[in-house]
Amino acid sequence: MTDAPPPEFESRILDAIRRGASMEDIAGIRPSRVASPGEAIRALKEGNSRFFGGQSVRPDLGANERRAQIMGQTPFAVVLACSDSRVPVELVFDQGFGDLFVVRVAGNVVGQEGLGTIEYAILHLNVQLIMVMGHEGCGAVQSAMFSPDAIAQEPEALQALIRRIQPALAGLPAIRDRKARMREAVLNNVRHQTAMLRGQETVRLAEESGQIRVIGGFYEIGSGAVDFLIEDEDLLP
Ligand SMILES: [Zn+2]
Repeated sequence: MTDAPPPEFESRILDAIRRGASMEDIAGIRPSRVASPGEAIRALKEGNSRFFGGQSVRPDLGANERRAQIMGQTPFAVVLACSDSRVPVELVFDQGFGDLFVVRVAGNVVGQEGLGTIEYAILHLNVQLIMVMGHEGCGAVQSAMFSPDAIAQEPEALQALIRRIQPALAGLPAIRDRKARMREAVLNNVRHQTAMLRGQETVRLAEESGQIRVIGGFYEIGSGAVDFLIEDEDLLP
């Protein structure tokens, strides 16, 4: 064990000096408070517990700390979540400025721009975790279960988005209870999008090296709780 700061932290300080930052600004630069994928998972779990337990601390920043943030960012996790207005990621995990690198797109699908955003976070921001988070009552996942005729009525880009979800639902078991069926569909979509990410070289290499872990999540709107899908058997499509 060593107390030396992580190399990316030192390079941020050097970068700040090169850019002529004031001593006050440099003093405000903080290393990421999370040092491993395991700690990143724990930070998200603890933040979500505070949120659904009504104990959110709503981390905010004073003027000095905000100024220091101009020098750079050290988010510890990427969350790929749905655009649904009921899923505000920072609030759900009780995280503050600079903590999470968030990609939001309907149905939390992996598309080209989202993938590029995640690659940037892995290679240039040294994030330690990627979570694909689906949610209860997802309209995008539901629309992927509509008839082909109904889907064909939608504009082209929306059809393309729906097509990114459909493979996740191909093997959906027949579940009579509608709520249970929707939950399974959303979970299958999380597993499918996670597999899509893991099929990408940048993500695969970062996970193999131990820099990151790729996990899934299911946000229950009613309770505010996130179920974490961490083990491989939870994530197999
Ligand atoms: Zn949704």
